[in-house]
Amino acid sequence: TAAGPLLAVRDLCVRFRGITALDQVSFDVARGQITGLIGPNGAGKTTLFNCLSRLYEYREGSITFDGQALEKMSRHRVAALGIGRTFQNLALFASMTVLDNIKVGLHARTHKGFLAHALRLPGVATEEQACSRRAAELVRFLGLEAVAQQRVAELPFGTRKRVELGRALASQPALLLLDEPAAGLNHEEVGALGSLIRAIRDQFQLTVLLVEHHMGLVMSVSDHVVALSFGRKIAEGTPAQVQRNPELIQAYLGTE
Ligand code: ATP
Repeated sequence: TAAGPLLAVRDLCVRFRGITALDQVSFDVARGQITGLIGPNGAGKTTLFNCLSRLYEYREGSITFDGQALEKMSRHRVAALGIGRTFQNLALFASMTVLDNIKVGLHARTHKGFLAHALRLPGVATEEQACSRRAAELVRFLGLEAVAQQRVAELPFGTRKRVELGRALASQPALLLLDEPAAGLNHEEVGALGSLIRAIRDQFQLTVLLVEHHMGLVMSVSDHVVALSFGRKIAEGTPAQVQRNPELIQAYLGTE
């Protein structure tokens, strides 16, 4: 199904003992676009990501990925279908090298198409060689050559966040969920991240859903922005449209 949005969220409700974390949330994520998901603390952004990667169950509403209903799928199946993510508190193996962490990502998805293609390339005879080549490409793309053989634990936080991106990209997702990629980064690193997110979308032809508190980054990198507050969608549109939405301005002022 190449037509229609890649992701369609419809009337999604999630409740935790009296707290309504998501309240009838509906929106689309268009193919090949970068969609920003914003909202004050507790708005429900992480809950939504957790529904998308099937870490949370939901009883009301639906999520359709590439025309298929997520509710019926296991967590593993969702990853295999092509939803990849990064985590706010990084999901890396600290005692392993950068390169090996990225290779772990390669195995996180059954990537038969990739292997069938890679095994036909000159000089690639085994699955291990195919994985090594792909991991090396990602290391280069992310500018991690100099640290490829270092253990993740030894690296500065900003570098570790790049490795986390590499791990997620290695699984060749069609939809990449980025959970606060700018958190903890310095000013220059945030600037570089904006260009990197766009380069990732262009180079790997994927669709990005970005949860982020750094407004400068979201507004400069996103094609479309969805805003949540207290579990409800309060605004949606281009960055320019969303930025002048009174309900959004109010939601942020109310939390300052
Ligand atoms: P932040 O920007 O601070 O990460 P958020 O927009 O990601 O916030 P969520 O973490 O999704 O917000 O939280 C939405 C609401 O749901 C909050 O009131 C939170 O306390 C609640 N919540 C989230 N996960 C759980 C859980 N597992 N059990 C109980 N309550 C939860």
